[in-house]
Amino acid sequence: MTTDFYNLLLADCALAFILLGLFWYVSRVSRGVRGIASWGVGHFFYSLGAAMLDGTAQQLERAGATAATAPVAAAGGMFACGGLAVLAGSVIKFVQQREQTRSEWLLVPALAALSLLAWLAGDAIDGQGAAMSLAELVLLGVMLWQLRHLDVPPLRVPARLMVIGAAVLAWLYARDLLQALTGQYGPNDAWVNVDLSLWYLINFCMLMLASFRAAESLRQTAMLDPLTGTLNRRGLFARLDPDLERLTREAHLAVIALDLDRFKRVNDRYGHEIGDLVLQKTSDTIRGQTREYDVFARTGGEEFVIVVTGPDARNAQQLAERIRIALATMRMDPPAPPVRVTASLGVSLCNRPMSLSMLMRAADEALYTAKRAGRDCVVTHTL
Ligand code: GH3
Ligand code: MG
Ligand code: MG
Repeated sequence: MTTDFYNLLLADCALAFILLGLFWYVSRVSRGVRGIASWGVGHFFYSLGAAMLDGTAQQLERAGATAATAPVAAAGGMFACGGLAVLAGSVIKFVQQREQTRSEWLLVPALAALSLLAWLAGDAIDGQGAAMSLAELVLLGVMLWQLRHLDVPPLRVPARLMVIGAAVLAWLYARDLLQALTGQYGPNDAWVNVDLSLWYLINFCMLMLASFRAAESLRQTAMLDPLTGTLNRRGLFARLDPDLERLTREAHLAVIALDLDRFKRVNDRYGHEIGDLVLQKTSDTIRGQTREYDVFARTGGEEFVIVVTGPDARNAQQLAERIRIALATMRMDPPAPPVRVTASLGVSLCNRPMSLSMLMRAADEALYTAKRAGRDCVVTHTL
């Protein structure tokens, strides 16, 4: 083994340490996206273990320090196998965006046991080499299996590059495993550059995927109203956008605009915090009356919009009336004070193809008519 080879492994380890910091940073700024920080941790322990096994242990053996070789190889193998198991869990968590199940957690003791078995078998370097190659193949199998789910833009391109990298690595490690089993495990100058370059590629793609997922999660957050958890105005249009042309063509749209009556008085009498609670309860009450495919949003302070889609759109007036009654009979849960609210609602219906913005304008006009008519009522405009 050349000193260059050893230096290469140490440089890889140092890079893994920097990546650990980078992945930790990305996980912090993309709060809520799972599997990013654990990738950095898993990769660092894998690189450290591989450097100990392929570098330090081999170096010690060559220097004749045989007593130290076995423990260093075993510790390296254990770190590498454990790190690979963490990487496999992190891929599952990242792709599925859920926590690992109990059986998936079993990967960690299962792969660490490979290293332990090699220790018990007594053949330090070859045994640990075989354990690490097997654990690498398990990780790559998990990775190839999971990445097929990321077949949507913009995730598709980095995910496919990772698949190519993982497939080539699987071929290299399968050869490595064969060599370890036949007692010929050892540093392989010929392909170690390829191996490390492919890991750079995989890490780079993983950082790209992580930032795409983080951007997506921020985009989703930007479409939600933080107080009530409903869509905001931007979210309303984004949700409707894919089907809007068809719905408009089929005249399968109706809009209900709702504004709470004299809400300023609620704030003046009970304070802004109670006002906020009333808005949350109002939002829950309205949502309780709508169907899953009605699009409901808080478009302003105490203003809400419901877009009714499909053939049911012609029944929007009845829905508006149900919402009005539900709000008039709504009671706050103690210890909140017994605030009563009512709402005015404007409904716009269409009998012919009509743009959403025209329908929204008509619903707003109907709402103002309802306000002028004395509030706590529904006014419908048919276009
Ligand atoms: P009207 O029947 O004419 O609609 O009377 P109103 O008092 O409801 O109407 P106006 O638009 O004059 O006032 C709306 C009030 O809603 C103003 C503000 O105090 C309150 N409001 C708006 N956004 C929020 C919010 O996020 N939280 C709370 N607590 N109050 C809000
Ligand atoms: Mg109002
Ligand atoms: Mg208002």
